[in-house]
Amino acid sequence: MTQHDTPGRPAIPTRMCVICRTRFSKSDLLRHVAAPGDRQCLVPDPRAHMPGRGHYLCANPACAEKFSKYSGRSRRRRGGQGE
Ligand SMILES: [Zn+2]
Repeated sequence: MTQHDTPGRPAIPTRMCVICRTRFSKSDLLRHVAAPGDRQCLVPDPRAHMPGRGHYLCANPACAEKFSKYSGRSRRRRGGQGE
């Protein structure tokens, strides 16, 4: 008897890389959250146990490079543009 019988769609949660905006399964992405005390700095959260909004980064080296800039400017300016 199979216990995990889910007909239709797969039960794999997906997240989008914040840089290349490609969807991956959650396990293929590295979660980052805003560092406690410094909202403009994103720190890796490999165990996904830290509170806050998650920013997911894929394994692409190009994305990792851009992510360092992304995290530095995250939420830096306050404008009228919502998310
Ligand atoms: Zn990416």
